[in-house]
Amino acid sequence: MKILVVNAGSSSLKYQLIDMETEKVLAKGGCERIGIAGSLLKAKGNGGEKLYNVDMPDHKKAIKLVLDALLDNEIGVIKSMNEIDAVGHRVVASGEYFKKTTLVTPEVLKTLEEKTFELAPLHNPSAATGLRACMEVMPGTPMALVFDTSFHATMPEKAYLYGIDYDDYKNYGIRKYGAHGTSHKFVSLEAAKYLGKKPEKLKIVTCHLGNGSSITAVDGGKCIDTSMGFTPLAGVLMGTRSGDIDASAVEFLARKKGLSHADAVTYLNKKCGVAGISGVSSDFRDLVAGEESGNERCALALDMFAYQVKKYVGAYAAAMGGLDCIVFTAGIGENTPTVREDVCEGLEFLGVEFDAKANNAQNDGSIREISKKRSKVKVLIIPTNEELVIARETAELL
Ligand code: AMP
Repeated sequence: MKILVVNAGSSSLKYQLIDMETEKVLAKGGCERIGIAGSLLKAKGNGGEKLYNVDMPDHKKAIKLVLDALLDNEIGVIKSMNEIDAVGHRVVASGEYFKKTTLVTPEVLKTLEEKTFELAPLHNPSAATGLRACMEVMPGTPMALVFDTSFHATMPEKAYLYGIDYDDYKNYGIRKYGAHGTSHKFVSLEAAKYLGKKPEKLKIVTCHLGNGSSITAVDGGKCIDTSMGFTPLAGVLMGTRSGDIDASAVEFLARKKGLSHADAVTYLNKKCGVAGISGVSSDFRDLVAGEESGNERCALALDMFAYQVKKYVGAYAAAMGGLDCIVFTAGIGENTPTVREDVCEGLEFLGVEFDAKANNAQNDGSIREISKKRSKVKVLIIPTNEELVIARETAELL
């Protein structure tokens, strides 16, 4: 079985074709600048790579080009489009409308477009555009929606509710939904496999630390709490997002700066986080370089980030009544040793015995154990693979 995974952005479309028997990536690539001058498809497959400098006025043209690349006589990996058994689409927000991976029907498409756009106005409309383009170009091929929020659907009410009027939650769906669910699911299952234990027997805190960061408590294979909220603005401070902030401070800030509500939220999403604190960059490589050259605000931003992640680790250990494993994943989690060390420093009381030497070893893309052999709590670096989860979920659905 071959599954095409599609991750559509407003002007981009990334894809992977995965053979589910071997879970091997047969081809992958991405279209950039869709609807903008200078559009481009970078496609890899069959041991080669090709650049297509072709005008892509819309996502339909982009997906047609992707299929051409998959069928290409040099880098192509399939002989006919019929070899693609299904398409799995990444969707950021599901609200309470979808709790799990869902096969697309006209009814499902209607709900996606009419109900969920306001929950993720930057992301869900792009996913729907990509989906519609695929449906037009590949009629008859099953399409699945795989939501970033699904893995968090097991959270109990006490974890996902905000302390607001219960009727407002019921009427407007204002609650915590979480994000990065496919990543948290993938790395928690990989951790169980690596440790040779059943997921049901483990209490894991998964730290997806990237440009957007979220921390999840995975108890017995299920998410019981996560740091992101109604939108991916909540939780720890991130590249440019503030993370949690007192709602009254937002109103105060908007008044002082003469911003509308919407503009204040845009400010919190785009101008804050470690970029706002450091005044230098949202990129952790720049912050580490800044700290090394004596920039105190870069050092402060890194300090705040690690401190906030550490607090979630402690809180979730308490929420689960124990801790067996901490997992680090995503751009920062996989590549920034100083953040991992600062998060784990002082967690001996929880049973963490950190191995600084292993932590500083070269990242070779494999799963790495960075706690000492005798450590009660295992600390692992696990490269995330959200595309594989989307493909697996799609294949399971079929
Ligand atoms: P992500 O959103 O998962 O792509 O993560 C992006 C973040 O990871 C940025 O802050 C990068 O600075 C950080 N990062 C650190 N080292 C690397 C690296 N070698 N490759 C990619 N991202 C890195």
